[in-house]
Amino acid sequence: MPMKEMTCPKGHGNMKPTRIERTTTFRGVDVGYKTDGYACPLCGLEAATVAQAGKTQRAISDAYRKKMDLLTGEEIRRQRKEKGLTQQGLADLMKVGVASIKRWETGLIQSKAMDHALRVHLQGPEFTNIHSGNRELSIPRIKLVIRALEKRLRRRLLKKTDKMLFGAKYLWYADMLAFRNLGASMTGAEYAALPYGPQLNNYSDLIDEIKKADEKSAEPLSEEEMRIIESIVKAFPREQMVYDAAHREVVWKRAPVGAPIPYTDASELTEIG
Ligand SMILES: [Zn+2]
Repeated sequence: MPMKEMTCPKGHGNMKPTRIERTTTFRGVDVGYKTDGYACPLCGLEAATVAQAGKTQRAISDAYRKKMDLLTGEEIRRQRKEKGLTQQGLADLMKVGVASIKRWETGLIQSKAMDHALRVHLQGPEFTNIHSGNRELSIPRIKLVIRALEKRLRRRLLKKTDKMLFGAKYLWYADMLAFRNLGASMTGAEYAALPYGPQLNNYSDLIDEIKKADEKSAEPLSEEEMRIIESIVKAFPREQMVYDAAHREVVWKRAPVGAPIPYTDASELTEIG
């Protein structure tokens, strides 16, 4: 098939294929990218075919993802093939639609949580930090998750004198389900099996910091994370329910007193779907 020729709109005749290097601002970040286009040898005007414009979109998306430490579309595709996975196969593993995999490979930017999930499935368990659930501990985010739970429960979880007896269990479910479904916990908190249920590890050191923390400084909750929080509130509308459920979990029962409960146990939770 002969290549379509592009003509300069200023009437200078045929334009020549060229490599274009540009810098642009994308989502507030300066990114440099390379793409293909046409240039007029006389006036220097640059233009692109529809196919080239699509390639440019992907190049910008990948440059942005590289800068933000997210897997690029190229990397997702290559690593998926190295694992011998089809797009459908990876979608099934991640419990997402195949359309999501296709879009991420062709330029749609995945959330940080989905990026973690991709890495867990493409790069294996060695990527997984089983005690923080693939996220750095964020006290402001603990506060943010608690506030989101409180709003939906219409009740305070973080009380003045309370040791988060109930709050910690809601948090535990939120973190565990986020790890299981999205590949990363919400808060990066570590949990220990205490006699009265799963609790934030070193909670006595954390509790004042949580109360003082500014939740507005935390990374906002994603839509997927909000859905998890809503499902927890739906399953356990009353505090006693989350308390009792946590005590029925085999992953808590089998852990020695004081031992950490690894996030990889999230696949064995029985009290919430
Ligand atoms: Zn021209």
